[in-house]
Amino acid sequence: MSQRASYRQQFSPAPEIAAKFGDIHPPLGSQAATVEANRCLYCFDAPCTAACPTHIDVPRFIKKIASGNLAGSARTILDANILGASCSRACPVNVLCEGSCVMHRYNKQPIQIGRLQQFAMDSFHASGNPLPFEPGEETGRSVALIGAGPASLACAAELRRRGIRATIHDARPLPGGLNTYGIAEYKLTLADSLHEIDLLAQLGVEFRFETPVDAALLAQLESTHDAIFLGIGLGGIHQLGVAGEQLAGVTNALDLIAGYKSGLITTSPARVAVVGAGNTAIDAAIASVRLGAVEVHMIYRRGAEHMSAFSFEYEHAKQEGVNFFWHVQPTAIRGTGSVESLQLTRLAPTTDGSLILEPGSEFTLPIDLVVLAIGQGTHTTFLPNGSGSATIQLERGRIVIDRVSGQTSNPKYFAGGDCTNGGREVVDAVADGKRAGIGIAAWLEGNHVHA
Ligand code: SF4
Repeated sequence: MSQRASYRQQFSPAPEIAAKFGDIHPPLGSQAATVEANRCLYCFDAPCTAACPTHIDVPRFIKKIASGNLAGSARTILDANILGASCSRACPVNVLCEGSCVMHRYNKQPIQIGRLQQFAMDSFHASGNPLPFEPGEETGRSVALIGAGPASLACAAELRRRGIRATIHDARPLPGGLNTYGIAEYKLTLADSLHEIDLLAQLGVEFRFETPVDAALLAQLESTHDAIFLGIGLGGIHQLGVAGEQLAGVTNALDLIAGYKSGLITTSPARVAVVGAGNTAIDAAIASVRLGAVEVHMIYRRGAEHMSAFSFEYEHAKQEGVNFFWHVQPTAIRGTGSVESLQLTRLAPTTDGSLILEPGSEFTLPIDLVVLAIGQGTHTTFLPNGSGSATIQLERGRIVIDRVSGQTSNPKYFAGGDCTNGGREVVDAVADGKRAGIGIAAWLEGNHVHA
């Protein structure tokens, strides 16, 4: 790669974090991988491939593992999904590819597609080989990408393979967005995310770190590039709107996860309350347990049947010792200077299905840390919002795109990932970025002359 140090070399993982966040899916050994690969039926019109948002040719990569062609297997994965390593660890495979495996029809265990993909990608990374793709012949075109998360990374890879310059801007000091800062360390380590991006940078993707993009910089980028890709994710986590929220000891799930992954947080206060019941809330709760909390409570205003977290994540949290409070709502955070307790009130359903506070049902939990995980807002105020074709159309705060090309209502702007879908999986962001990269290239080739 270029003469600069790799992103992974710039980052030293905290040893105590590595010790506390061991891999949730220990890698398959070579023999176990071969045996598992040989169980696959190599289905025609494989439903596992259809269920993958990036449409990895699953039977093909598995067959290559079975025949010992690990480099070929990795190439098959990477051809469809440039972030195939991180997706093998972060994907909810039991609701995607493995959930669709035909083995379910025969009452057999589905093929362990995620672990086989991880096996192929780990072996590829261990080989030290570069990505099996070359940048395309330079076209003189250039695209600025905003946000260095999975959508932008996938888009940039497609652009480079077509000879289009790709420069990614991000406010943070390291690339990867949620892949680097937001996925539980026992699923995907920060170091592994950076290693994957190191390889991608070899295609000639350029990065501008610690560069928050505001309206002025965006206007400048628009005037100097042929197209803009918005992979800006979502904004900050919502506030509760109760007394005491400003106290020390109130944080949010994303800051907690980013803090321990980057080694800034290595221990937890004893008593933690996580407010919310999505996958990020679960990650924060389990992280608190592993960082040494004695009691971790999850607080949710509805019942378990309504939580947005996957059921396997819920089961995992229970196994880790997380306690759940259902049908309760925080009504105040108490403390002198810092959090000392959380006041909760029970909620009762009304006949129309809405919830009301049950009078006289308040109770108090002694708490040292309150972690908010109640959904994220959007961060779109810096986008062109004038009139006519310059406007970027939003719907419920999300950027509206053409699903095939990723193009927005402003033809020079494309978008993908959480800012367009409200927050889905890494693999959905990769699929969006890939489509947009192809869409931008087609648009530049077809009808655009840079001013
Ligand atoms: S559906 Fe299952 S058995 Fe069929 S190709 Fe996919 S992994 Fe193999």
